[in-house]
Amino acid sequence: MFPPTRAAGLEALADFVPRAGAAYARRRNVDTGPLRTNVSSLSPYIRHRLVTEGEVVAAVLGQHSLSAAEKFVQEVMWRTYWKGWLEQNPEVWRRYRRDVAELIAAGSADTPEYRDAVAGRTGIDAMDAWARELVETGYLHNHTRMWFASIWVFTLRLPWQLGADFFYRHLLDGDAASNTLSWRWVAGLQTVGKTYLATASNIERYTEGRFRPQGLATIAPALSEEPLPPRSPIPPGETAPAGERLGVLLHEEDLALDSLRGEHPWLDGGVVAVAACADADARSPWGASDTVRAFTAGALADGLERAAPGAAALAVGVDPPAAVVEWAVSEKVDTVVIPYAPVGPVAERMTGLRAALADRGIALRAARRDWDSLAWPHARRGFFPFRAEIPRLLAQQGIPASSRR
Ligand SMILES: Cc1cc2nc3c(=O)[nH]c(=O)nc-3n(C[C@H](O)[C@H](O)[C@H](O)COP(=O)(O)OP(=O)(O)OC[C@H]3O[C@@H](n4cnc5c(N)ncnc54)[C@H](O)[C@@H]3O)c2cc1C
Repeated sequence: MFPPTRAAGLEALADFVPRAGAAYARRRNVDTGPLRTNVSSLSPYIRHRLVTEGEVVAAVLGQHSLSAAEKFVQEVMWRTYWKGWLEQNPEVWRRYRRDVAELIAAGSADTPEYRDAVAGRTGIDAMDAWARELVETGYLHNHTRMWFASIWVFTLRLPWQLGADFFYRHLLDGDAASNTLSWRWVAGLQTVGKTYLATASNIERYTEGRFRPQGLATIAPALSEEPLPPRSPIPPGETAPAGERLGVLLHEEDLALDSLRGEHPWLDGGVVAVAACADADARSPWGASDTVRAFTAGALADGLERAAPGAAALAVGVDPPAAVVEWAVSEKVDTVVIPYAPVGPVAERMTGLRAALADRGIALRAARRDWDSLAWPHARRGFFPFRAEIPRLLAQQGIPASSRR
């Protein structure tokens, strides 16, 4: 269903653009089943930046006015909002990682209830079908993700962190920010005290009668947690001094080197080598599904082939920085440049790499896209104040005025 290439992403985008206006706004909440056409299914491509958010929004606004495509543009901006919010609240990610490891160690995933939920054996027909769809396809519709998370937390009473981990291991678009924060939102942790309750009638209506699950929870009491520390500043994007030998290292967060170079002219001239490295298994103590591994590896190979035809991806192995350090030393680079890795497993890996490179006298610099640098600082409070910034952000982010009819 999802060939892991930029070409396939662009084809899916071109196919979807005519439906991104009023039709999307009217039908986006309906889950018609795996052959759906009312949503874009672009998330696996956007999540790895095989296709960037800016390209998607520009293509849509090339055919629709901003008011007609407002809903779609807002959905793309939800992704940016969640990333900006997590970037300023990295403690949420640290706690999630710690909790998943502790829950697994304590045997919370070794219960019949958990095993039935992930195997599609709860007896709740909709849940069982969705668990199988997720495992088989690596994708679920947004509304279905909300219902699934709600039933997991409030009907099955399983730990939200293990549900988020199940999604994260299997979603082709699995994203530290969108996934973790959406689960928190359903559970009443993200908008404190406000939960999402899945109901049979809503599910029946928006699956067009495919499901009407029985026995769902009728109340959704919010979960609680220790107060979060104050927001952290967003780390700055970095550049390298002129005249250095630069090696670019692509990774699974951003596989569009061409457009990154377009935004960072200081890369021109200095780049002497390009490599790529990914580790889908770092998503969870249990690794990632085979479907996710294959998509990630394919996407990485595609990104690398476009950036440096004929080059082979570096292996992560048991010592993630080792292959990269060896490559950087053999290419005699002064600095390894990476696309900025937002809070998540890749950023964790890059922290280890930065230290390992420093030991060999090589710097690591993270080049951030304007899309992120301009928008993230606005993701301080809820989505609504962020949403108000969208027209200004689009103008600042170079979406041509002529396409914002
Ligand atoms: C519990 C839960 C977990 C989720 N986990 C992820 C995840 O790991 N990765 C992920 O990309 N999205 C996640 N989402 C958000 C959303 O469900 C998916 O982005 C969307 O379903 C992808 O399908 P699409 O490309 O057809 O979306 P469309 O409706 O066509 O939207 C276009 C694009 O906008 C972005 N988008 C749409 N809705 C959202 C949203 N609610 N939050 C953030 N971005 C959005 C995606 O990049 C998407 O490709 C999650 C939502 C929930 C409720």
